[in-house]
Amino acid sequence: MSADGATASTGGCLCGAVRYEVRGRLRQVVNCHCSQCRRSHGHYAAYAAVKSADLAMTAEDGLTWYRSSDKARRGFCSVCGSSLFWAPQDLDYWAVSAGSLDPPTGLETVAHIFVADKGDYYDIDDELDRHDRGMTAAARQDGIV
Ligand SMILES: [Zn+2]
Ligand SMILES: [Zn+2]
Repeated sequence: MSADGATASTGGCLCGAVRYEVRGRLRQVVNCHCSQCRRSHGHYAAYAAVKSADLAMTAEDGLTWYRSSDKARRGFCSVCGSSLFWAPQDLDYWAVSAGSLDPPTGLETVAHIFVADKGDYYDIDDELDRHDRGMTAAARQDGIV
């Protein structure tokens, strides 16, 4: 992705039954340690994010949604099982699994969220920002989320 965000990023699931294109800027990657992400992804989730209007599906035969709470739903591939999206009900962005993006992503991991809920089987041993719950507005600097 170029510095001005003009170059589209692409991504998809393991089997290709879900493919998408990002036509705007991607937020840097945030690791979410909440229990729902850990169950859904098998470990903590590494999420970029994009304005919903900037995300377009180019293949969606496998795209299936699970309503994981009254605030959000999770998109995954029903063929290969890849966890792909976290889409909040009332906000105009989608979190996109960083691992589903085609390389090079040009992104960096910048923070950990829901650290208070993290699993007891690993330690967070880097110097990135940590937030017990979600990120505060002050911590969100790129205007996407
Ligand atoms: Zn798939
Ligand atoms: Zn989470």
